[in-house]
Amino acid sequence: MAPPRVLFVDHAGVLGGAELSLLDVAAALGARARVVLLADGPFRDLLERRGVPVAVEPMGALAGVRKATRLPAPGALLDAVRVLRRLAARAGDVDVLCANSQKAFVVAALAAWRAGRPLAWMLRDILAPPHFSGPNVRAAVLLANTRSARVIANSRATADAFIAAGGRAALVRVVHNGIDAAPFDAVSDDAALAQRRALGVPDGAFTVAMLGRFHPWKGQQVLLDALARLPGVHAIVAGAPLFGEDAFARELESQAVRLGVRDRVHFTGFRDDAPVLLRAADAVVHASVYPEPFGRVIVEGMLARRPVIASNAGGVPEIVEDGVTGLLVPPGDVAALAAAIASLRDDRPRAAAIAERGAAWARERFTVAAMVRGIEEALAT
Ligand code: UDP
Repeated sequence: MAPPRVLFVDHAGVLGGAELSLLDVAAALGARARVVLLADGPFRDLLERRGVPVAVEPMGALAGVRKATRLPAPGALLDAVRVLRRLAARAGDVDVLCANSQKAFVVAALAAWRAGRPLAWMLRDILAPPHFSGPNVRAAVLLANTRSARVIANSRATADAFIAAGGRAALVRVVHNGIDAAPFDAVSDDAALAQRRALGVPDGAFTVAMLGRFHPWKGQQVLLDALARLPGVHAIVAGAPLFGEDAFARELESQAVRLGVRDRVHFTGFRDDAPVLLRAADAVVHASVYPEPFGRVIVEGMLARRPVIASNAGGVPEIVEDGVTGLLVPPGDVAALAAAIASLRDDRPRAAAIAERGAAWARERFTVAAMVRGIEEALAT
């Protein structure tokens, strides 16, 4: 049987983890993949640069937020109807539509039905409160159970949350994200040191890096609180409010000033050179306070050969074995995070051993090739 031609649908034009994962999948499928974005942004440029055919069908209100906690407004639904007509027309010459987010899934489901094409859903969210409201979860699960031929979950945790919410287990395949190691291996020690100095980190200061969009559930505030307990430790904090969380970004600045750590926190804004930033640090911190569906940044920290400390919830324990390939701490536990950072600072041989085991594990287990193979198999069966 010929491999399927796939039309991916994503609601976001900005670069979140879901979009960066789709970029590698679509690029690997070559001529068999095309992408429709429901909002314009830097994601379109990246797809074009990787040679992926991409079109934008702007959806206005519905595309503007990452995750709906309520049911969509009527105006947004009208937008969706207009978009789905155009999307259905684009679906005419593919074998399957594949939605890359919960919001895209609703639109793609209607378009697939209209075009008479099967539908798959890349499930990259924990479908449960507090990430999503109860009605939102029920609507998504009902739609998946009745309209989707396949649900491709990015972790066992996202799969289990779907099934716990009433999703049909037979629909689900778990395919972990994979990340290319090459850009991490290409960063020299000199480049990492130059980056560190460019950010104003004093030589010799133990430094952690945290990468991710700014959002209260991503836990940047937890890292700042931990830093206040760790005199002399610096933090590189990369990311931006991708989906309108500007007030939270301002609050982080004020929090750093209030805690007296502002001179030790290096906010970089959103950066497209994650590998060098991670290698500029001595350790990598993931501090999500809600269960993380997967957590690409954890694998990236491992690929950068840095010891990773991560919040023990959601898909994270599928990536990190505590004390072996990284350190796990309870989500939102400032004291535990501070203690974990101090333990890496104070025992460098142990930190180096964890980093090496993490680097080997990530290279073996979270490859782009395995992710692409898993998705192709899931779409073909
Ligand atoms: N990222 C980035 N630049 C930044 C902040 C984050 O390139 O300034 C990337 C990061 O390297 C990772 C992704 O954004 O690949 C975030 O993915 P993750 O799964 O950690 O979180 P999500 O955004 O999907 O919630």
